[in-house]
Amino acid sequence: MAEQKKIILTGDRPTGRLHIGHYVGSLRRRVELQNSGAFDEIYIMIADAQALTDNADNPEKVRQNIIEVALDYMSAGLDPARSHLFIQSQVAELTELTFYYMNLVTVQRLQRNPTVKQEIQLRGYSEASDGSDNKAGTPVGFFCYPISQASDITAFRATTVPVGEDQEPMIEQTREIVRKFNAVYGPTLVEPEILLPDNAACLRLPGTDGKAKMSKSLGNCIYLSDSAEEVRAKVRGMYTDPNHLQVSDPGRVEGNTVFTYLDAFCKPEHFGRFGECFHGKKASFDFGSLDEVKAQYRAGGLGDVMVKNFLAEVLNDTLEPIRRRRKALEQDLPYVYEVLRQGTEVARAKAAQTLADVKKAMRINYFDPGVLEELIKEQSEKYK
Ligand code: ATP
Ligand code: MG
Repeated sequence: MAEQKKIILTGDRPTGRLHIGHYVGSLRRRVELQNSGAFDEIYIMIADAQALTDNADNPEKVRQNIIEVALDYMSAGLDPARSHLFIQSQVAELTELTFYYMNLVTVQRLQRNPTVKQEIQLRGYSEASDGSDNKAGTPVGFFCYPISQASDITAFRATTVPVGEDQEPMIEQTREIVRKFNAVYGPTLVEPEILLPDNAACLRLPGTDGKAKMSKSLGNCIYLSDSAEEVRAKVRGMYTDPNHLQVSDPGRVEGNTVFTYLDAFCKPEHFGRFGECFHGKKASFDFGSLDEVKAQYRAGGLGDVMVKNFLAEVLNDTLEPIRRRRKALEQDLPYVYEVLRQGTEVARAKAAQTLADVKKAMRINYFDPGVLEELIKEQSEKYK
């Protein structure tokens, strides 16, 4: 057998612009992996069909955000020459795969998926429905989205899926489908590996409000496209340690979102460049590392304002080049759409090949060359 290619598939729902949670949870890693040259093929999907599973009443939101996600991707460093950026709904083969995989998963298994459970609750779908309100009750498509994700991943024969921690149950579900499919129909599909961020702070970046997850749907985001001033304002309003009332009070670093963001973004060089944030009239510090900042915060005497000013500089330092590239791309939308069109074409060809293999394995490829002749011969035996 030919040596297994190394292939990446990952993506995002076009339900809004991308935020710094996406960046540290997945996007930054994708760009690194892309630039490492260690992968043979990279597919990055704008999951509009998946976004429709809980936005059926607002397709315009999904449509509007496709270009926003594409702009965020390319500004963050995804390079169309090395990564195929594509739109999920335009690859019809994915839906067909989903239909066959649905038979390999039980309703009970889907009901146990912890991320789906959480998201059903978050969206208020669990409230009893009297049949009059569309909002109550879970759309079947939404309930089945882990199966559709398995199609996305396996269609591209992905070996590696770089995503945030909330996606772990989806990858596990995919692996189960692959094993089941291969056991029933013969070895056909590739079992993928999840690639989680190696920095604990990035697994699930909390929102600016301190809630467990920064999420487009919760409105607690710092967007990659926010201006420097917006970033400063959002950081100023951030949740810290509620018991750190006086500057002199000892503060808590654990569960303090400002420090979580620093864990995710701060680099040693930032202390030299933004050290003046810690120089004040009442107190002045010369920190050389994040550990020193944390130690001082724990001991007391270091105020939230200083730490927040530093964080805003650190974030803007990361976001500035992304913003700059975005501004340029925003002026060249025909190019961005052309990238998506071409990426989708490549994605379609790949998915079509996998679908053909799947149908062949299931022996439902009745009209493939040579197959029909065989079929006629086989069935004719019955009537001899
Ligand atoms: P929605 O609210 O529409 O579900 P979302 O903000 O949760 O949007 P997704 O498009 O569902 O974003 O997630 C895309 C990718 O970004 C996934 O790999 C997910 O794990 C990752 N991700 C999203 N939010 C975070 C976060 N706060 N921290 C780390 N990774 C995240
Ligand atoms: Mg999500």
